[in-house]
Amino acid sequence: MHDLQMVDLKRQYLKIKPEIDTAIQNVIDSSAFIKGSDVGAFAGALADYLGVKHVIPCGNGTDALQITLMALDLQPGDEVITPSFTYMATVEVVALLRLKPVFVDVDPETFTMDIDKVKEAISNKTKAIIPVHLYGQSADMEPLLELAAAHHIPVIEDNAQATGSDYIFSDGRTVKTGTMGLAGTTSFFPSKTLGCFGDGGAIFTNNDSLAEKMRMVANHGQKVRYLHDIVGCNSRLDSIQAAVLGVKLKYLDDYILARRTAADFYDAAFRENEYIICPYRATYSRHVFYTYTILLKNVERDAVKQGLTARHIPSQLYYPLPCHKQPVIKTLYPTDYELPVTDMLQDRMLSLPMHTELSNEELAYICDNIIEVINRVA
Ligand SMILES: *Cc1c(COP(=O)(O)O)cnc(C)c1O
Repeated sequence: MHDLQMVDLKRQYLKIKPEIDTAIQNVIDSSAFIKGSDVGAFAGALADYLGVKHVIPCGNGTDALQITLMALDLQPGDEVITPSFTYMATVEVVALLRLKPVFVDVDPETFTMDIDKVKEAISNKTKAIIPVHLYGQSADMEPLLELAAAHHIPVIEDNAQATGSDYIFSDGRTVKTGTMGLAGTTSFFPSKTLGCFGDGGAIFTNNDSLAEKMRMVANHGQKVRYLHDIVGCNSRLDSIQAAVLGVKLKYLDDYILARRTAADFYDAAFRENEYIICPYRATYSRHVFYTYTILLKNVERDAVKQGLTARHIPSQLYYPLPCHKQPVIKTLYPTDYELPVTDMLQDRMLSLPMHTELSNEELAYICDNIIEVINRVA
């Protein structure tokens, strides 16, 4: 058996090595490292896959959020509603632009934004709402979009963990996550559901004028070369990453299937276990299992994690400290938040190895060990 890893990118690469190597070599041969033809070709292919009008490639998923907020012309002090239970990047860009994050709690089953809590958090200063499709599952977008539309507040989907996931509206219409709000952002960090061999990101939108503005922001605020109209930044997806992504996009649905198959295996092994709550699968979404994150009950999570480490079974906490408890946020925004679900998840969640190459043998080994460890420490 292979060494167990949280994410095994090497085996995934080896399966498509000739195709990837050729794509990379072609970029090197062309020497068009920046703005090569692969960048536009990949953006177009991703737009087709997602069913969205514009895909704006950029340097990473954090930049994608920052560029989107910059293009919305928000003013210092404007409020942005986000979950605290997310990766810090979602909140960091809000602070960077001197906006004010307003944290809401998440749903105890899906771990995504609790829409009733969003309703309570809206004020006349609310200028954006950023739902996060955490762990690969969509936030409940239909009620959120209705609520936001009623208040004329733009919704920006942080889709970094859910590229390829679907949301199903009550009328049956099925759309890709990241394409429902005014804009959606994603990351191509290597471990994400669609990952490159370094850093990369993109923004999705169906809005023509916003797309143009975001392209300008990402390109030093210029539309015409050397004529800078607005303050921008420098954020690009380079040609080698685009070439890798162009190859991997063709396999994205296979990768998602492999993740779902692994998740089904875990579910079957844990379903009857009194100490484990398997990830909830909302009827309105199709989970892509960026992570497989369980909740432990009546057993101490950290003891389980230590027991697994002793047996060389990797596990992770995504994320050990929610954003509203981060030192920088407490310093900049000294607000007392009561987010009981977020607190509960912080103590009880545990993510297990999840990637596209897990064999049944490995999954069985992981599951057997988890159950043994839990029985020992419970
Ligand atoms: C990974 C991630 C990001 C940031 O993406 P980078 O490409 O690492 O900048 C933002 N939000 C969430 C929820 C993420 O998981």
